[in-house]
Amino acid sequence: MNVSQKGTDINMKRKTDKITAIVPCYNEQEVLEYFYEEFHAVMEKMTDTEFELLFINDGSSDRTQEKIEELANRDSCIRYISFSRNFGKEAAIYAGLEHATGDYVAVMDADLQDPPSLLPEMYDAIINEGYDSVATRRVTRKGEPRIRSFFARRFYAIMDKISQTDMVDGARDYRLMNRKFVDALLRLKEYNRFSKGLYGWVGFRTKWLEYENVERAAGETKWSFWGLFRYSIEGIVAFSTAPLVLASLVGLIFCLIAFVFLVFIIVRRLVFGDPVDGWASIVSIILFLGGLQLLCIGILGQYLAKMYLEAKNRPVYLVGKTNIDQPEQTENKEQTETAKNRS
Ligand code: UDP
Ligand code: MG
Repeated sequence: MNVSQKGTDINMKRKTDKITAIVPCYNEQEVLEYFYEEFHAVMEKMTDTEFELLFINDGSSDRTQEKIEELANRDSCIRYISFSRNFGKEAAIYAGLEHATGDYVAVMDADLQDPPSLLPEMYDAIINEGYDSVATRRVTRKGEPRIRSFFARRFYAIMDKISQTDMVDGARDYRLMNRKFVDALLRLKEYNRFSKGLYGWVGFRTKWLEYENVERAAGETKWSFWGLFRYSIEGIVAFSTAPLVLASLVGLIFCLIAFVFLVFIIVRRLVFGDPVDGWASIVSIILFLGGLQLLCIGILGQYLAKMYLEAKNRPVYLVGKTNIDQPEQTENKEQTETAKNRS
């Protein structure tokens, strides 16, 4: 009896729920049609919920924008924000979170590597099991270049050790969150956004769903090896100060070694009166230490550069075109607020 009562409660609750799906798109013209088909199938299955499909066109240079507008004409639940240039997936996710109007918000790739068919299960976990977000992780990396998998795994292993936030190997950006979670993410205003870390940082209760890697439905990956390498440095700098500690530690160890050497050389000179020799060893020591110093300065520079970017306080993205009515509203609101504060 209890169960059926609970069931009706849930049904009543579901009627008012709205799910926003944020889909960052960068040159995805080939895949959008398939994506929409699959998403539409899910919408038809989840009849008790309202949907908003929010495409973020991240400065695509192909016909992605036309494709999105074509879909938007077909289906009124489709909204889009088109950036003035390519700002990166992280900026696209942020823009989506800012504009999502749903009670629950999902972030998913356009290439169907994040299967929309998982949505009902994710939604169920939030509604019935009391989680604040449901995240996904792929347990295999099938179809991915070996070397990429290898470095990706190393990255997660290192990150997990050196940062305080949880980093999960194989975690995707695909997740469904409730309002509380989304609002918490929006309070993190940083310019260098590393979503996988931000998700972990805000905490709350997260359920992990596992699935086998799915290959891209069409089109090509936007990540070069070099691009991923830079992204991983960004992740480390954004979520850990361990490299700075390491640099200081190495410096300290070398000071100690140098001190022992100094004592050794002075004693040798006084006791045995050895003439100067061994310029080769001196040159290699100087070169080694010089390199080490540059490396440490480089590490420092990474943090300084990020601080510089944060200090500039530039917007994370700029909107070129959208079918949401208030693209400048936030700016206007800020202006009126500062005017109010001044007066
Ligand atoms: N993407 C984006 N801006 C970028 C690069 C990628 O919005 O600068 C989007 C892309 O359209 C896709 C998602 O991010 O929806 C994931 O990109 P991709 O499939 O190339 O990455 P992979 O799955 O290979 O890691
Ligand atoms: Mg992909």
